[in-house]
Amino acid sequence: MLVSACLLGINCKYNGESNFNQRIAELVKEEKVIPVCPEQLGGLTTPRLPCEIVLRDGEKRVIRKDGVDVTQSFLRGAEETLKIAKMFNESIAILKTKSPSCGSCQIYDGSFNGRVIEGSGLTAGLLADNNIRVFDEDNYKPEIIDRR
Ligand code: SF4
Repeated sequence: MLVSACLLGINCKYNGESNFNQRIAELVKEEKVIPVCPEQLGGLTTPRLPCEIVLRDGEKRVIRKDGVDVTQSFLRGAEETLKIAKMFNESIAILKTKSPSCGSCQIYDGSFNGRVIEGSGLTAGLLADNNIRVFDEDNYKPEIIDRR
């Protein structure tokens, strides 16, 4: 399975830290895990300014806090993550909640005010569109995976 690298303690988060999640780390320790950070795979630096998704003309754009449109880097990171999933024939991803890349149920609303809306990040969306089961860190439970 793919897992957001920051959940496993890798310091790839925008501020140079991680989002270590003890529960997820424990649940996946017996699994074959590929840690991925789509934003680093897309060529973004660490640390980096935070980014959020906004809708413009019905299209998702990713905007950095200083107003720069970084959608292309996020798309590239999503494509690279999908490439890794296909390379290793992975069918499950456990991703960080609310991220403009990894969020699968909720994302920030584009205002940089901490408000959250329903929606998905670019990587989570692309993986789901390619038949990969995407779980938010908060709703992943091993028993809900059918491994047949
Ligand atoms: S892109 Fe995903 S893996 Fe990378 S820091 Fe953001 S939430 Fe974590």
